Amino acid sequence: MDEPLARLSNYVDGRLCVPRDGRYLDVHEPATGRRFALCPDSTGDDVDAAVCAAAAAFPAWSATPAVERADMLNRIADGIDRRLDEFAAAESRDSGKPVVLARSLDIPRAVANLRFFAAAVTQFASEAHTMGADSRGGEAINYTLRQPLGVVGCISPWNLPLYLFTWKIAPALAAGNTVVAKPSEVTPLTASMFGEVCIEAGLAPGVLNIVHGTGPGAGQALIEHPQIKAISFTGSTRTGAAIAASVAPKFKKVSLEMGGKNPTLVFADWDASEANLATLVRSAFANQGQICLCGSRILVQRSIYAEFRDRFVEKVRALRVGDPNDPASDLGAVVSHAHFDKVMGHIALARDEGGAILCGGQAVDVPGRCAGGWFIAPTVVEGLDANCRTNQEEIFGPVATLIPFDDDDEAIALANATQYGLAASVWTTNLRRAHRVGARLESGIVWINCWMRRDLRTPFGGVKQSGVGREGGVEALRFFTETKNICVDLSA
Ligand code: NAD
Repeated sequence: MDEPLARLSNYVDGRLCVPRDGRYLDVHEPATGRRFALCPDSTGDDVDAAVCAAAAAFPAWSATPAVERADMLNRIADGIDRRLDEFAAAESRDSGKPVVLARSLDIPRAVANLRFFAAAVTQFASEAHTMGADSRGGEAINYTLRQPLGVVGCISPWNLPLYLFTWKIAPALAAGNTVVAKPSEVTPLTASMFGEVCIEAGLAPGVLNIVHGTGPGAGQALIEHPQIKAISFTGSTRTGAAIAASVAPKFKKVSLEMGGKNPTLVFADWDASEANLATLVRSAFANQGQICLCGSRILVQRSIYAEFRDRFVEKVRALRVGDPNDPASDLGAVVSHAHFDKVMGHIALARDEGGAILCGGQAVDVPGRCAGGWFIAPTVVEGLDANCRTNQEEIFGPVATLIPFDDDDEAIALANATQYGLAASVWTTNLRRAHRVGARLESGIVWINCWMRRDLRTPFGGVKQSGVGREGGVEALRFFTETKNICVDLSA
């Protein structure tokens, strides 16, 4: 018998509430293919109520001392920490990722985001510029005020649901803004639980509002709302372009974190240890390849290509695809039926384009409770031209290609030969090469001999069609504030 469906709530003006139109969207468990929850299909009216609540809360929240805002973010972080297992189970169920991954990466990182920006805002400083007397005037001092913007909109995707949701709202709130957030309709569960935690923590009504719904529905209403001063978006390049076009004539501040087709450059002189090979495998297939930072084009120097390929493929073949609840599963399910079809379509395309499938290439049947789930075997393809669609388009699934190169110049040219520029990793023991190649890559983030090592103070974001603006550390606090220069004449 089917279990009763959980009915998720919006969080508006400090209360959990139903959508005004009473409409809901189905939420599916990727590992079983079954519907298990209903998510509000909010409309412009719900968004408007949330923006009004946020606008009413802004004067008091923005005037709250930074240390008290920080205390509140830490209380919310405590609330998630206390329910860590429950949050991890929910994130896994909603997205298909292994529960072990949600428990070790997604949820701890959401907690860390809140704590990081709580601490960061207490250290956030601004500049002063003193002026000496000259023929035009006496001494003066300029100082820069950084003031919160007002009500801001935060829109997040499904791949790292709570992790990216908190990555936006934490700096926005820390800086003194009030927020209307729209999580992905594909994975709304942990954002819905987040509202409960905010109530328990005693967050004042209206400071944060969470409105669930589709992109064209609630999302579009949010970006178009005249009282929204800025939009922080993470998601696909297509949606980012639509948002940019929509907000440009209104001159709203916008931060866009978008798609990627990240290169991994393996030079013949790399440290070919098992540990490094394991990192390379993880960099391609973690979270079923659904991390914007995953390296999906693996460029390998020709002199080591065959040996590298064989070792890499052997390790990928050993990955276990299975029930996300099973601690032995390395990969769970991909996020939705539509995404499963998209990734399988890309694998078919890779074959059509003449690629050789070295491993994977097919769906995986996981028996028992997961018989209806959307599982795909980790897939490695070789023999494709760097300009073909498989090597140009973001697949965002467990599919990686291998491409040989001869020298540094060719490696860099291949790495840079897409419309994207989010992240790259470079594997070499030659220090000079590492620095030279790193500087020439068209990429917002370059890892040398590592992958996804994150210091939350560093600027995060992409170039070309991967992004506009930077998140992280002081960059995020600057995005969520407006600078004002105040010049004080000091002469008598
Ligand atoms: P998506 O663009 O479909 O959706 C992202 C969010 O935008 C969702 O909440 C969605 O409802 C909303 N949205 C859609 N249309 C909208 C509209 N017209 N107005 C306002 N909001 C709208 O992306 P997705 O499929 O959820 O996520 C996968 C994509 O996200 C991939 O391309 C991936 O590379 C990218 N991503 C990028 C980063 C990064 O930091 N650069 C991080 C994670 C994911």
